[in-house]
Amino acid sequence: MYCPFCNADDTKVIDSRLVGEGYQVRRRRQCVECNERFTTFEIAELIMPNVIKSNKVREPFNEAKLRNGIKRALEKRPVSFDDIEDAITRIKSKLRATGEREVPAKLIGDYVIEELKSLDKIAYIRFASVYFSFDDIEQFSNEIAKLQQK
Ligand SMILES: [Zn+2]
Repeated sequence: MYCPFCNADDTKVIDSRLVGEGYQVRRRRQCVECNERFTTFEIAELIMPNVIKSNKVREPFNEAKLRNGIKRALEKRPVSFDDIEDAITRIKSKLRATGEREVPAKLIGDYVIEELKSLDKIAYIRFASVYFSFDDIEQFSNEIAKLQQK
């Protein structure tokens, strides 16, 4: 990286160590031109992607909103707090794993649907009936038919 003192484009790492319980790397660097020393920190980027709503408006990922949506679907259902939190953690990991800076809200909905499907069938139907648009009604009917066969 460039030297912050003289803008030379070559600096060398003279020391590198793990800090922050191993979640950060601290590097001492020295400029090969002016010999000034400076420190850089490297941390994993764990920023959640922004959400693109159906009206194209972008908004920051909102974990509370996700949790509320899931809890509303699971109201008075026999699903433990831990199971809900695990589902939220999995959804967040999948969103990060996309590597995208922006994801459509629909993708989050799809992940929620998947989780609810395995957590609780009633919650799944509650959420799906609100979530699927009219075009998806047929698909939704098929899903219910599949559940009834079990
Ligand atoms: Zn320099």
